[in-house]
Amino acid sequence: AAPAAPSSPGAPARSVQPGRRGVCLVIAAPSGAGKSTIARALRARDPSLFTSVSVTTRAPRPGEREGVDYHFRPLDQFRDMARKGDLLEWAEVFGRGYGTPRKPLLEALESGRDVILDIDWQGYRQLRKALPEDVVGLFVLPPSLEALESRLRGRDSDSAEEIGKRMRAAMDEISHWNEFDYVLVNEVLDQAVEEAQAVLTAARMAVRRRRDLHAQVARFSPAE
Ligand code: GDP
Ligand code: ADP
Ligand code: 5GP
Repeated sequence: AAPAAPSSPGAPARSVQPGRRGVCLVIAAPSGAGKSTIARALRARDPSLFTSVSVTTRAPRPGEREGVDYHFRPLDQFRDMARKGDLLEWAEVFGRGYGTPRKPLLEALESGRDVILDIDWQGYRQLRKALPEDVVGLFVLPPSLEALESRLRGRDSDSAEEIGKRMRAAMDEISHWNEFDYVLVNEVLDQAVEEAQAVLTAARMAVRRRRDLHAQVARFSPAE
């Protein structure tokens, strides 16, 4: 009988492969460059991609849902989580607390699920240290500062003051781009999504992640 398709070397790389540890894909960018949009498009293509839902102390934007976009928590609860070690990384961004819950992320990676995170450079740095074998970093650049500002305005979710804060922080975020493994310019969205997908696909194929193929490869040794 033919072997089960998922373990055959010719099978397409998917986001869940038992026996393989998941990829932890971190997408970072200045606010407004399009990382959430790109992450959403990757999830739409592959619903089994696991999304890390961050904890934040900022207020929900219109349309944002508790537990889907973020876990919205008051500062004292956020501090409690950070103190107890429930957050794998946390950082203060634009004067608010943001952090990645530890347990769901580790469980997903261990069960062979790929995880996508939309976090800032400080979080990326901490995750990279915590999970050096798992993390792949993708930085998203806007085509220009003017385009960035017009996207932030067009998103229609932040006050003029908040947009000013995010524009002032943009250069600081961008200055960390060379700490990442991959970079793309989000000019034409479809192309940016293709490029992000290519990074994820290549990461899945890294030899160090495919120890599950050992038995398969052993069968290629010449017969006695
Ligand atoms: P300090 O670090 O002793 O000066 O005290 P802070 O009040 O700045 O921070 C105490 C703890 O609060 C930190 O170790 C974090 O675990 C947590 N924390 C989480 N989010 C935030 C935030 O947005 N602002 C601040 N200030 N602290 C935060
Ligand atoms: P981030 O998550 O990086 O803060 P978003 O994904 O929320 O950014 O994108 C900011 C805004 O820009 C959104 O309104 C989004 O629809 C828009 N946007 C994203 N990518 C493009 C693109 N390639 N061209 C034009 N607008 C875009
Ligand atoms: P926003 O308020 O636009 O949703 O996010 C603001 C910034 O916080 C973005 O740069 C986003 O990537 C970052 N961010 C969101 N969640 C986390 C997180 O869990 N950890 C860290 N370090 N940054 C985060």
